[in-house]
This record gives sequence, C-alpha cells and structure tokens, in this order.
Amino acid sequence: MEEQPNLLELAERPLVQAEGAGSAEKGIPKLRRVDRAQTMMANIYVEELIPADHKARAIWELAGRLDLDGFAEALKTQAGAAGRPAWDPRLLVSVWVYAYSEGIGSAREIERLLEYEPGMQWLCGLSSINHHTLSDFRVKHKKALDELFAQMLALLEKEELLSLERVMHDGTKVRAQAGSDSFRRHKTVQEHLERARKVVEEMGDPREDRDRREGARDRAARERAERLERVAEELEKIRATKEPAEREAARVSLTEPEARLMKHGDHAITPGYNLQISTDAKQKAIVGIHLSQCSSDAQSLPAAVEEIEKNLGRKPQQMVVDGGYTNRGSMEAMAAQQVDLIGALTDPQERSAATLKGMGIDPAFAPQFFVWDQTTNTLRCPAGQPLDYKGQSRKSGNLYRQYQAQAAHCEACEFRSQCCPKSSNGRIVSRLEAENEAVAAMRRKMDTAEAKQIYRQRGEVAEFPNAWIKDKIGLRKFHVRGLAKAGMEAVWAGLTYNVQLWIRLVWRKRAPQAA
Ligand code: SF4
Repeated sequence: MEEQPNLLELAERPLVQAEGAGSAEKGIPKLRRVDRAQTMMANIYVEELIPADHKARAIWELAGRLDLDGFAEALKTQAGAAGRPAWDPRLLVSVWVYAYSEGIGSAREIERLLEYEPGMQWLCGLSSINHHTLSDFRVKHKKALDELFAQMLALLEKEELLSLERVMHDGTKVRAQAGSDSFRRHKTVQEHLERARKVVEEMGDPREDRDRREGARDRAARERAERLERVAEELEKIRATKEPAEREAARVSLTEPEARLMKHGDHAITPGYNLQISTDAKQKAIVGIHLSQCSSDAQSLPAAVEEIEKNLGRKPQQMVVDGGYTNRGSMEAMAAQQVDLIGALTDPQERSAATLKGMGIDPAFAPQFFVWDQTTNTLRCPAGQPLDYKGQSRKSGNLYRQYQAQAAHCEACEFRSQCCPKSSNGRIVSRLEAENEAVAAMRRKMDTAEAKQIYRQRGEVAEFPNAWIKDKIGLRKFHVRGLAKAGMEAVWAGLTYNVQLWIRLVWRKRAPQAA
C-alpha cells in the first residue's frame, strides 16, 4: 500500500504546479491545491458585506421609519443602570423579517446564519444573537406586532399601494406543530388528567420548603396538570360542535390542544389551523391576516372585515369571496355592515355529488331531474312516475316542498338501486319553493356581467399571497405551538410579505445610494 504523505510534506508542496515543469510529458493533470495548514488575516469592512441594493438594507431602513416603542416597553434594562444592554428591537424586527423573506422561520437556523450569511452579518454587525432571545422576541410582543402590521399598512396606503375599494378574501390550511398521533379521545384525556391531578395533590402545599430538584419536579407536575386541564377544556369545545352520536369519537391533541384535524391542500388530514388572508386588489397588499380553528371558511367573513377595520380604521367597500363563504349568515352580516359582497353561489337544487354519493344516489337522479307539474302539484321522476305533495318546511330562510313516490312504484322500478337504494317507502324529493331574500338578491347580483367580471379577478389576487407565504416565506407548517403563538407567526409572515411588496414597488424604484 502506498504511504500517505504527512502534513509537513503536504505543506511543502507547491500550490500550483509550475508551467512547463515536465508534467505535460508524463500526462499528469495540472491541479490547483488548497493549503489548510496556514494562518490568514482578513480585513472585513461590514458595510461592504452586501451591495447597496441588498434587501437587508431596505428592511433596516424601513424598521427605522416605524415606531417600535411597543417592543421596548417590556425591556428591564435601562440606560445608566447596571446589567447587560438588551438587543435593539429595530435589529430583532429586521432580523426576523429578513429571515422570513429568505424562507427561514427557525431561531436556531438564524443563529447559524449569523456566522456566515452576509445579509444577516451586515444587519447584526457580525455579532451573534442567541436563539432563545430570537424565539422569545417573536412571540412575546403581540400588541406591538399588531401595531407594527398596522403601521406597515398605513405606510403602504401613504404610498398609494392600497385602497380598500376591493378586497379579495381566501383561506389556506397551515400545518400545526402537533403530530396526528398526539390526538386522544375523551376517556384517555380524563385518565391522564386524573393521574396528573393526583400527583399534584400528593405533592402537598407548594409553599413548604423544597430543595431545588424537588421544586423543579413539582413545578413540572403542576404545569402538566394545567396543560391537561386546557386539553380537557378544548376537547369539550370540540365535543360541543358535534352531534351527540359523534361526541365519543371527538379527539384532541395532548401536545397542542388548540390545533384541529383538518384537510389540507394535499388532501392529507393532519393537525393545523385555517389561515385567513384578506388581500387588497390594487397591488395585492395583505390588509388582514388571522387564524381560525375551524376547517370550514363559512363563518370567517365577518371576522375578516373586523380585522381589516382594526388594521386600517375603516371597512372595505367590497369583499370578493369563493363559494365557501357565500352563506346566508355572511350575506346578512355584510349587508348589515354595508360591505358589498361578491361571491360564487351554488344552485340550491343541485346537491353536491359527494352528498348524493353518501346517500347512495346516482347524480343522474338528483332533485333537479324531477320535473314539477304545476297543474297537479306533483313531481315526475326520470322513470315517469308521479311524486305526490307531502308538505313544506323552512331551512336557513328557504321554503321547501316535499314530494314522495309510491313505494310500489319504486319497488318495481329498474332504477331503484340508483335512485332510492336506502328507502323502502318510496323516494322523497325536496323542491325549493322560495329562496331567502338576501340569497335571492345576491343571486340576482351575481347574474350581472359586472359581478361576473369582478369575480373572475378573485383567484389571481386572493391566491397569490397564499402561495407566496407558503412557497417563498416557507410557512407550510408553524414553527411555534398554540393558537396565540401560531397567530403571531402568521402576522410576521403577513408583515414580511408587505415589506417585500414595499421593497419591490417603492424602495427598488428609488436609486439606492451606497451606504
Ligand atoms: S326509484 Fe321511484 S322515484 Fe326513482 S326513478 Fe324509480 S320510480 Fe321513480
């Protein structure tokens, strides 16, 4: 076996083999080698780490223009007093916005980047910041963060980048930290809770003297019991939304009780939150962002308008939404708030294919294929048999009339397995007689060419920030646990999106001066 050269021999070898040194004749490739056995001194001028048009400079400049006093209120260190100085909120805000703009949401990752990433090094002047400091800053200043988001919107409004004349609203599911395997039913939660309560009870009076180790163990046991109390409370909330027969099957996460199992864009059912985003149509600025625990969008529209009003001091003139939001409650709420609503409506006669499938009915035998005969007030089924009038009912402000086929006709019908496979009394069909007035007015509006043209813009505007936040900012899964903290991370993402909009449409259009 060939003997390996030692370090001294390697250090003595030339870095680059001299030209014409004879290697050509022998066919040996001429290679450039590195020398790691050397000491080097480098001069770093921090200002020159990044070019004049680097976005870190834009973020720093912007943070300097915003009022960040709210972040400084909780600081314990005071100028002139003893103790280590705290990091400047302008710096920490800039670091987080810059990190999110690079698709990084981990405090540990930022700490690593501070060692070598030029934008981070420039922002922090080559200093390092502990990841605990960064993590705490992200979730400890909710009021100040909300105010910062609102200030950013005021700045965009001043630059005429938003108008609130037309706002597109949409929701997207973002995964929670909790795993699917952390979900438990009522019985298991109660068992865990009883055990935790018993441990706390047996610990006795917390004021009694304890050594450090015992004190830490007691504190951990109490925190566990408190967490399980919250888990039990959240489970009760979930159970309250279920039909009595489904309550036993309700489950809650032991590690993140506020997360909910919901269907995501990739059809996987995993713990998550429903991120609701309102986007101004003028330049696609995010004017409202909040989290919902409900997987359905149906109830989210009034909260979205409230959020916009909180951020900008006034309501939007028009909200544009997809069919998930256009229910009677939302229509009446928007009418009461004098917000014009544009949204897709489904034909109430058309039961969705999924609902029909659940009833075992072939879509070809949906209610709209039963023809009404005004003279006899009967329906005629696809097999030509009559369905007699049985009565009427009201649901969600709509008036329905029920009709039923004769059991004998259905029994003998060749289409029975497709039309009424689960009934032995003859097919029953509900026919919409009179629609709720708010819904009927909305339907008339949506039949106009103008409303259709506005609605066609919805997808492009509303889905752009959703995709940006997931693909560029990297928020496919929250980095923090719980509704409050995840809600704050959503605001950081929305803030970063708006800052990037400002950089693109305002800061880059000015000729940036070399610092
Ligand atoms: S099953 Fe009854 S209602 Fe359905 S098509 Fe046949 S006869 Fe008509």
